[in-house]
Amino acid sequence: MKHVTEFRDPVAARAVLSRIAETTEAIGATREKPLHIMEICGGHTHAIFRYGLDKLVHDGIEFIHGPGCPVCVLPMARVDECVEIAERPEVIMTTFGDAMRVPGTRKSLMQAKAAGADIRMVYSPLDALELARRNPGREVVFFGLGFETTTPSTALAIQQAAREGLANFSVFCNHITVPEPIRALLDDPHMVLDGFIGPGHVSMVIGTHAYDFIARDCGKPIVVAGFEPLDLLQALLMVLEQIRDGRAAVENQYARVVPEHGNPASLAAIADVYERRPSFEWRGLGEIDASGLRIRPAYAAFDAEEKFGIGYAAGPRSVPEPEGCACGQVMTGRIKPTACPQFGTGCTPEMPLGALMVSSEGACAAYWQYGGARAAEPA
Ligand code: SF4
Repeated sequence: MKHVTEFRDPVAARAVLSRIAETTEAIGATREKPLHIMEICGGHTHAIFRYGLDKLVHDGIEFIHGPGCPVCVLPMARVDECVEIAERPEVIMTTFGDAMRVPGTRKSLMQAKAAGADIRMVYSPLDALELARRNPGREVVFFGLGFETTTPSTALAIQQAAREGLANFSVFCNHITVPEPIRALLDDPHMVLDGFIGPGHVSMVIGTHAYDFIARDCGKPIVVAGFEPLDLLQALLMVLEQIRDGRAAVENQYARVVPEHGNPASLAAIADVYERRPSFEWRGLGEIDASGLRIRPAYAAFDAEEKFGIGYAAGPRSVPEPEGCACGQVMTGRIKPTACPQFGTGCTPEMPLGALMVSSEGACAAYWQYGGARAAEPA
């Protein structure tokens, strides 16, 4: 625990907070005219609220919560398609726990399971492979979901299935990439963003150069950060120092984990198994060019969309968000979760309307878990 304790040291945190305050004042930001700093990753959103960093930093800093929660940005149509596959009698659907309660149009995977579908929670795609080996008479499908962090492990499972000739294993691929939605946000003239805290785990795979366009083309600073309080405070300070000095660069606060050029073995597995979809629908952001991955034709036997003639293989499908749901506005940083009219009333962790309330990286779940629930109570 010693290593973690150092990253939570209150004396060091107070020193960084005081430098954050000085730098914010040097920039001239105030509560009325704050700097908008987007933390892209949902894991960072939770860390900020868990440690109360939003309350500790200078009033002139406003954290904007980005779209970096893969469960939250999954459009309803993909949940519906996953449920459709899971309801086939021959199928064992496997998924990470986070995805179980994400609402679809008709039902979530949890509700489909309660109604009799064979849906099992796994901790790794390799667990799904093992199920396929043990159940040769069934079709085992893995709900492949996530950013570049989880994309390699799904790729390795597909490569292994190919090596073993495991004909009853396939992946419903919903893997997506981080840089493209950031570009889409920066292209939106209504978004006012002064700098970014970059994702830690994703960057461990793709490295830091993937964000060069943010500094080079858009003139915004970005600092890749770890997940402990001092990581986040130091990264914020590094962003502010760039703004104060009139610089825009990609910097790496999380160098103890994130290599500049990423992880070559993971990148090779990704390149071997996947190719870019022309576009992919994101909840709240719409279609974004080249932001989703699909399984290459060489591995088509392991592609659930091809196997079951569903999803993009059957033509793109889009369904509207539920009435009154403000997930899109929250995910693009336009409003805070507590400004959603459904927060705490029509949408709670027990009865969620949107995915942001049930995902462990969702902004609404963070507000609820770390004090937002109280914020939703009538005065
Ligand atoms: S409170 Fe519920 S409906 Fe509103 S933005 Fe959050 S998840 Fe979506």
